[in-house]
Amino acid sequence: MTPGKRIAALLLVVLALAACSRLDGRSSDSASASESPSESAKAGPLSGRTIAVDAGHNGGNADHPEVINEKVDVLTGKKPCNTVGTQTDDGYTEHEFNFSVAAQLVERLESAGAKVVTTRDDDDGVGPCIDERAEVGNKAHADVSVSIHADGGPDDGRGFHIMEPVLIKGHTDEIVKPSQRLAKRIAKTYADSTGIPPSDYIGDEGINPRDDMGGLNLSTVPVVMVECGNMRNSKDAKLLSDKDFHGDIAEGIADGIVDYLESALSILGQKRQYFVSKFRNVYNLHCLNLRALRRRAMSTVKDPDGNGIPEPANLHMSTMRRIGRGGPLSALRPWAVAVAAGPGPDRRRGRRTALRGQPAARTAQRGDRQDPGAAQAAQGRHVRAEPDAARVDRQAGGR
Ligand SMILES: [Zn+2]
Repeated sequence: MTPGKRIAALLLVVLALAACSRLDGRSSDSASASESPSESAKAGPLSGRTIAVDAGHNGGNADHPEVINEKVDVLTGKKPCNTVGTQTDDGYTEHEFNFSVAAQLVERLESAGAKVVTTRDDDDGVGPCIDERAEVGNKAHADVSVSIHADGGPDDGRGFHIMEPVLIKGHTDEIVKPSQRLAKRIAKTYADSTGIPPSDYIGDEGINPRDDMGGLNLSTVPVVMVECGNMRNSKDAKLLSDKDFHGDIAEGIADGIVDYLESALSILGQKRQYFVSKFRNVYNLHCLNLRALRRRAMSTVKDPDGNGIPEPANLHMSTMRRIGRGGPLSALRPWAVAVAAGPGPDRRRGRRTALRGQPAARTAQRGDRQDPGAAQAAQGRHVRAEPDAARVDRQAGGR
């Protein structure tokens, strides 16, 4: 099969699977919104993903207190619509820093194949309010929403911290756990990329759960706010003011996002890849441990009628969104996980797996089964902004 046909066929797998597991309206909206052929065609570890990037504050806020001081409801209280933000002793402003880092982050995420939505596209406007910012990620059904800030902490304290939401019953129930995982990942990759240590004046190992932030409380998608450092601390301020350093900052955040999204697709959160092979009428789900380069069979599903892919009847769309739509091989992941999850009640009652004809999917599966090389290639990790050609080369190299 030609690469073009293979990608098209794999795309059909994903779309077919998405179509048969639309269990709730919200997710199906997002599927149709983010799976247009042009977006899905982008290669990279984040292809098919939507990321919301919020550059905190705005350059015009200081001149418009009447706008930004309006109170908005953040579930646990009322907060100003927006604030001016902090600045270094030398007068380098947080809004400018946030905007610069956000721009670099967007570039990296898009380069890795993501669709990115942002809350502001210049640095001299006013607002938007924090509730509207949260709404940007919500409306886009983003896989991840990340807000960029720098802190105005005590001058003798340094380091970054990442704010994550806490449980507000009936509101943040769905996002607390994934947001915690996201925060942890970014804390690690951010420290690695920037050398900035976790904060020594707030939070725990750079993680700071908060119940008073509108951007966290009002989000319906996994969200964190990254306080990239302390602008009031001379060491941090020197780094944060250095525009050449903003690429490292953005890279640290982008790497964490990729890490989080990739870990979400492995059931145990480890570096594993699931794939499927078929022999006669038996499908086997394999787990490839990418660290140990070990493969083991996980699950077997019989296909007595020869109709192909089992319907992932009990696979929730949100799982699908987390696991699906990576590079070519990873397009098989939704199916692999569907097999792992099984048809639930049916399996418990010992009934036959519900089967469903998916000719295109079968073709794709034959083309790609048991291809550990591609599996590793699909794990393209470090997210640097790079020209399309270079990225395509790297993707093609593993197959
Ligand atoms: Zn801020």
